[in-house]
Amino acid sequence: MERAHNFFAGPAVLPLSVVEETKDAVMNFANLGVSIMEVSHRSKEFDAVMLETQKDTLELMGLSSEDYDCVFVGGGASMQFAMVPMNFMHTKADYVVTGEWATKAAKEAKLFGEVVKVASSEDTNFNYLPKTFAWSPDADYAHITTNNTIYGTEWKTTPDTGSVPLVADMSSNMLSRTLDFSKYSLIYAGAQKNLGPAGVVMVIIKKAWLEKANQNIPTMLKYKIHVEKGSMYNTPPVLPVFVVGRTLKWIKALGGLEAVEALNAKKAALLYDMFDAYPEFYKGTVKAKEDRSMMNITWNLPTPELEDKFVAEAKKLRMLGLKGHRSVGGCRASTYNSCPIESVQALAKFMEEFYTANK
Ligand SMILES: *Cc1c(COP(=O)(O)O)cnc(C)c1O
Repeated sequence: MERAHNFFAGPAVLPLSVVEETKDAVMNFANLGVSIMEVSHRSKEFDAVMLETQKDTLELMGLSSEDYDCVFVGGGASMQFAMVPMNFMHTKADYVVTGEWATKAAKEAKLFGEVVKVASSEDTNFNYLPKTFAWSPDADYAHITTNNTIYGTEWKTTPDTGSVPLVADMSSNMLSRTLDFSKYSLIYAGAQKNLGPAGVVMVIIKKAWLEKANQNIPTMLKYKIHVEKGSMYNTPPVLPVFVVGRTLKWIKALGGLEAVEALNAKKAALLYDMFDAYPEFYKGTVKAKEDRSMMNITWNLPTPELEDKFVAEAKKLRMLGLKGHRSVGGCRASTYNSCPIESVQALAKFMEEFYTANK
C-alpha cells in the first residue's frame, strides 16, 4: 500500500513501523495466539506494556519516577478540562486563554470555582500568544495550552508562575520538543494528535501535588486512584496504550526529544519559508514569527475559492487533511512527530507550483 501524505490534525499520522507493529499485535499479541484486542488487561504480557509505556514516558521527559507518575485514562483531553479543577480547584485558578481548547478548559473550570483569566488573545482571534501575565499568587494552579491546534500558535518557553502549580494541556505538542517538564505539576495530552490513536489520554502528575487533591469526588475522576492502581482501576484502553508504547519506542530510537525537535523544526521551516517567500499569497494566520507552531501550520490564501482549490488539488496528489478547522476556515498542515519530512517536502513543492499557477 502506498501511504498518503497525512496532514490531519487528529487523529493523525503515525509512524508506518508503528502501524505495522500494531497490525501484527492485532493478529497475535506477544506470541500468545490472541489479538491485543482479545487479551486481559491483567495479563502479565499487557501489564508489561503498561509499565514500560509509563516508564518510557517519564524517561523521555527527563522526569524521575520518584517525583512524577504517569497514568493513562479515557475520556479525551476534554475530560481533563473537568478532572483538573475537580481534583485541584479549592477556590480559584488562573487560565491563559489562547484558543478554542483553552476557552473550553476555562469554561469547564468555572463549574468548580473562580476562574481568573490572566491573559487572553481572543481580541484578535487568537493570532498571537500573550506575553505578560498577572498571575494570582493565591491561585490553586495556573493552566496553559502549550500548542493551539486550531490557531497555529505554540509556547516556546515555560512561564514562571512562582509557587503556583502549573498545569498544561499539551495535547498537540506533547513530546515534540525538549522542555523543562519539571516546571509542571500536571500535564495532559490526548494521544490522537502526536502519540497514538484516539481513546487514551496521557497524564503526568507531580506526586507531591497529588497529595493536595480533593478526595470527595467520583472515584473514576480521581487522579489518585488511577495512580494507585497503575492505570488499571478499571479496564484501560488496551489497544491505544499499546500503540502509544510503540510510538515512544520509535521516538527513543530516533534519539529522543532533541532529535525529534530538530526534525520538527526542519519540517515546519519548509512551510514557513513559503509564507515568507510569498506573503501576499500564503498569508500565515499567526502574527508574530516567534509564536509560530512547529506542529500546526495555518494560513489563508487570497480568497476562500483559492483555498478550496488548493485543498482539492492537494488531495488529488494524495495530500490529506489540509483544510483548516471548521471554526476558522483557511488551510492547516499538521506536521506532528510522525509526519515524514518527505511529506512536508512534497507539500512545499506543491505550494510553490500552486503559487506559480494561481498568483
Ligand atoms: C484536540 C484537542 C483537545 C480535545 O481533545 P479530545 O481528546 O477530543 O477531547 C484538547 N486540547 C487540545 C490542545 C487539542 O488539540
